[in-house]
Amino acid sequence: MIHMKNITKTYHMGENVVHALRGLDLDIADGEFVAIMGPSGSGKSTLMNILGCLDIPDSGDYLLGGEDVSRLSDDEQARIRNKRIGFVFQQFNLLPRTPALKQVALPLMYAGYDRAERLSRAAAALERVGLADRQHHKPDELSGGQQQRVAIARAIAVNPTIILADEPTGALDTHTGDEIMSIFEELHAQGNTVIVITHEPDVAARAGRVIWIRDGLVMEHHDGHGGRVANPPLAAGEGGIVVRATAEEGGMPSRPTTERAL
Ligand code: ADP
Ligand code: MG
Repeated sequence: MIHMKNITKTYHMGENVVHALRGLDLDIADGEFVAIMGPSGSGKSTLMNILGCLDIPDSGDYLLGGEDVSRLSDDEQARIRNKRIGFVFQQFNLLPRTPALKQVALPLMYAGYDRAERLSRAAAALERVGLADRQHHKPDELSGGQQQRVAIARAIAVNPTIILADEPTGALDTHTGDEIMSIFEELHAQGNTVIVITHEPDVAARAGRVIWIRDGLVMEHHDGHGGRVANPPLAAGEGGIVVRATAEEGGMPSRPTTERAL
């Protein structure tokens, strides 16, 4: 269970101050499959870093499985990550010249498994993503989709309860992206909490719920049938808050996606 209340995060770059998260509230239940959408710069990756205990907020509360993780030291954050969270990134973040099996087995050292256990868990994770026959291939011997599968195997090898993916299909063609989303669907069906950040409506449509972020805040839809708003970026009021699609993203649906029940 994820509970965030009034989370803020500000970056200082010389004279510039960027309020990346401005009092964000978010609740995600165990076992949910959630997509997080929003324009570039809206704070999605900042949110993911905090969700994944890669960073801590400046203020606000974050409870993860009932534990207050909003003010942890680096070591304590690492302990939570190793135990609970699997990360998948847009650019795969694989080690160059390292075979898939080793790629997946290496992080298991931090979880304290001996070598034999690391290798057998890594092989099992590769099998779960359909790469049993690619254990000895290095990243440059694999397609983009296969590399992302290795990254997913690495993320799930420790049996995390939460899988956090930041634009996991952003570097892939549509068909390959669909295959990757099918893997996330399977992980969700197996009981994991899956949180996918994406620009792509097709990708978000695979999730059980879509959460929109804009200007460092979660936008919620209350009406369920708001059309695209032509003028103001935000129209808060009787019909709820409506999100405008920006030309820059190009990938926003013409009708704002509303929260769908699981
Ligand atoms: P998104 O993932 O939605 O594109 P980010 O969370 O990456 O948004 O960024 C939110 C805002 O914070 C942006 O204006 C970005 O430029 C700024 N930002 C993100 N990371 C940093 C950083 N490490 N230092 C300074 N500014 C940052
Ligand atoms: Mg981002």
